[in-house]
Amino acid sequence: MKTFIGIPASAGIAIAKAFVYVDETTFEIPRFRIDKTMAAAEWDRLQQAVTRAAEEVSALHKRAQQEVSREHADIFQAHLFLLEDTDFHDQIKNLLDTNLLNVEWIVWDVSREISHKLMQSPDPVFRERAVDIADISRRIICNLLGITCSRTALAELDKDIILAAHDLMPSDMLTMNKSRVKGIALDEGSSTCHTAILARAFNIPAVMGLSDFSKQINDGEMLALNGTSGNITVNPDKQSLTQYKTDEKEQQKQIKRLNSLRELPAQTTDGYRVALKANIGFLEEAASLKQYGAEGIGLYRSEFLYITPGKAAEEETQYHAYSHVLKAMGKHSVTIRTIDVGGDKIAPELLTVNEKNPLLGWRAIRLSLANPGLFKVQLRAMLRASVHGTMRIMFPLISGIEEMEQALALLDEARAECKKKKQPWSDSVEVGAMIEIPSAAITADILAEKSDFFSIGTNDLIQYSLAVDRGNEKVSYLGDALHPAVLRFLKQTIDAAHAKGIKAAVCGELASDPEVTGILLGLGLDELSMAAPSIPRIKEIIRSVSLESCKALAVQALQGRSIAEVRAAADEWALQHGI
Ligand code: PEP
Ligand code: MG
Repeated sequence: MKTFIGIPASAGIAIAKAFVYVDETTFEIPRFRIDKTMAAAEWDRLQQAVTRAAEEVSALHKRAQQEVSREHADIFQAHLFLLEDTDFHDQIKNLLDTNLLNVEWIVWDVSREISHKLMQSPDPVFRERAVDIADISRRIICNLLGITCSRTALAELDKDIILAAHDLMPSDMLTMNKSRVKGIALDEGSSTCHTAILARAFNIPAVMGLSDFSKQINDGEMLALNGTSGNITVNPDKQSLTQYKTDEKEQQKQIKRLNSLRELPAQTTDGYRVALKANIGFLEEAASLKQYGAEGIGLYRSEFLYITPGKAAEEETQYHAYSHVLKAMGKHSVTIRTIDVGGDKIAPELLTVNEKNPLLGWRAIRLSLANPGLFKVQLRAMLRASVHGTMRIMFPLISGIEEMEQALALLDEARAECKKKKQPWSDSVEVGAMIEIPSAAITADILAEKSDFFSIGTNDLIQYSLAVDRGNEKVSYLGDALHPAVLRFLKQTIDAAHAKGIKAAVCGELASDPEVTGILLGLGLDELSMAAPSIPRIKEIIRSVSLESCKALAVQALQGRSIAEVRAAADEWALQHGI
């Protein structure tokens, strides 16, 4: 028995066998010359590998038709067509005969060439095919090498497991058979990285930042994981297992108690009402929000529409997704964030660029403004969907007024284009800026002139104000929201919003941290948006305190000269209020 402690990233207990995932983008593809007389045998070897790959894809296609959605089944259908594509086979045959290299290398070379060309296309449908090509060539190569393609195996899981890996891309999280992944344990990551955010969205207990955990365990070893405390035990003995099970029962009891608050307002004892909303990444999540008492969606991370493997972000796809979410939320508002790709996240396949400093690079609104065509597709889809409910649009990673004005101008153009096509939209759509960069917080008074609301993205605001990569477990201890600088940025932003008569929200992970709820309320926030399962606990805290005491705490916290001083004030306050 061995115990590891990491960063708690998604609450809950999981007990299952380990599945150690090795990202095969790191596996080596052999390259060697072959004799002319061997070319025919190499070709035969390829045909056999393609046949096996086709059998695997057919099985997946069948299962997707039965279990998942039609769209997923269509992806596998597209893969089957590609496996039979004569152009693809002809290119491999030509290279094999002329270059006389082993067929694994040739498949990789050809697929890289095709993917690269497709990726340059302005048409998302072609870029989407690049992802498919990469997927099927990976499958063929794994078959040629006789190894289990672990990414493929993730999609094909048929037993309950705890997924252990060095790191996971959000796209791995989408590919995996989620119903079988009972827990996630990662060497890298922190509680605010995107894989953690997805784990919470999928309600999968997770622990991150475990250093070299994935190297220290073997496939099939028994694991017990507590995503609330960050503990993992390998091969737990009877006593330890009993402890995990007791903790699980305790957590379930707490969930039951908190669920009884569902219909009650998030209101302090002296009548201050806060809106508690949900963060979502997938339209399917909208259906479950009511059970947690969410009063709308404060952050819909629309970029996930762009990364579902094999799916293009066409206007119609987006229009249907946004309409679906708006209709599902009824009278409650839905805040859709325009795509935020790049940086540590997502869509590497679709919008790939190699950058030395991706977190300071071409991401979020920067990417949208540089691709006005792509951006306006999204804006038109949003405007058209706005007639189905109450929509708010917000722009991520705004650094100053110029970007806000450019984004608003493109929104105007999108309106004009809808008008031309006689497509209606709602006039009451509010448009806001996300405050995630120190420059935006400092100029919040100026940004407020052009914004209907602010939403503070504390995950990025903390990352950029303290120079702490949010996905790097080695420095995650520095990314502390209670740093006086972070509190000052929050105060400045909220005050600037209120001076202009607009509302201020927090939609970063901080919104769900019980340790700071009192401070956030005391600073005057109007709205908190978080992973839906966290809403009941935060509501319980809000209902047990007065705004007056929160304000006194905020004043004290703002006087803190260090993280320790701020934390001492927050802890004392929590103790007094039994939190
Ligand atoms: C944030 O930065 O706090 C935020 C909500 O956006 P994301 O986590 O998607 O970057
Ligand atoms: Mg952000």
